Amino acid sequence: MSGVRVRFAPSPTGPLHIGGARSALFNWLFARQKGGTFIVRIEDTDLERSSRESEQNILEALRWLGLDWDEGVEVGGPCGPYRQTERLSIYQQYARQLLESGWAYPCYCTEEELAAEREALLARGEMPRYSGRCRHLTEQDRRRLEEMGRRPVLRFAVPAGENITVHDLVRGEVTFDTAGIGDFIIVKSDGIPTYNFAVVVDDHHMGITHVIRAEEHLSNTPRQILLYRAFGWPEPQFAHISLILGQDRSKMSKRHGATSIEQYREMGYLPEALVNFLALLGWSPGGEEEIFTLEELVQQFSLERVAKNPAIFDLDKLNWLNGHY
Ligand code: GLU
Repeated sequence: MSGVRVRFAPSPTGPLHIGGARSALFNWLFARQKGGTFIVRIEDTDLERSSRESEQNILEALRWLGLDWDEGVEVGGPCGPYRQTERLSIYQQYARQLLESGWAYPCYCTEEELAAEREALLARGEMPRYSGRCRHLTEQDRRRLEEMGRRPVLRFAVPAGENITVHDLVRGEVTFDTAGIGDFIIVKSDGIPTYNFAVVVDDHHMGITHVIRAEEHLSNTPRQILLYRAFGWPEPQFAHISLILGQDRSKMSKRHGATSIEQYREMGYLPEALVNFLALLGWSPGGEEEIFTLEELVQQFSLERVAKNPAIFDLDKLNWLNGHY
């Protein structure tokens, strides 16, 4: 095995969608080509929206597509499990570390106070973001607020006036100014970590070398880089893959075709055709060839040939591919 370690980290809030399946496939192809490790991690910290049923649906769809994993959730199996709700004590330990080193602080603001702050900023034509006022509370203030029954969240103290550059393997260099990032929440008042915090702790702990995921997470990446720096951890390489749009260039939705892998399976599509189709959503092989077996994809896949611009979902192409298997 090489040192490459990648992961697919679905939130189990519904069935496996086309976009999620494509992220899983790109990670899987990259790992298999490099002789690396492919991890599945269930990100179930949104307690209200997550379900074991969705988790099973996602894992079942991955199995059907032929995307086996080396570590991760395997109910009754030898691997994992990596389920974030089973790792809460790890996040708590690292949250404490940030608190003690001054990178995090408790914030007692109520929803109403935050809404008033947001509105005031909007009225001045400024981007709404948290002012950071709880950074300056004294021990005495904190005690008083706790006595009032307020349960704090933990916020990360974002350093002002820094540029954070993401060296993205697909998008090139993308720079963000920390002035646009308010002190974000890392642990909610019920002790549950937020996505940005849990993902950094896990990616570091699981030795992830390449984070290959959907473009929608690009704007989260500077927050994650700030966390890596605060811990003094090396950053993984990032690769954000483009959005999938319908042929009318609007966001992919039911209007353009079924959106979940399960639906295609039920309609009788072949997994080989779907994998071939998903691989071509954003990745181009270079030549004229359009029909690939999984082995051929493993040989030929490269992140350099993943396009920056949106991938267009073309149901006719899927149907055509499906006729060839
Ligand atoms: N749980 C996130 C999602 O499903 C994963 C994001 C990531 O890969 O970092 O969108």
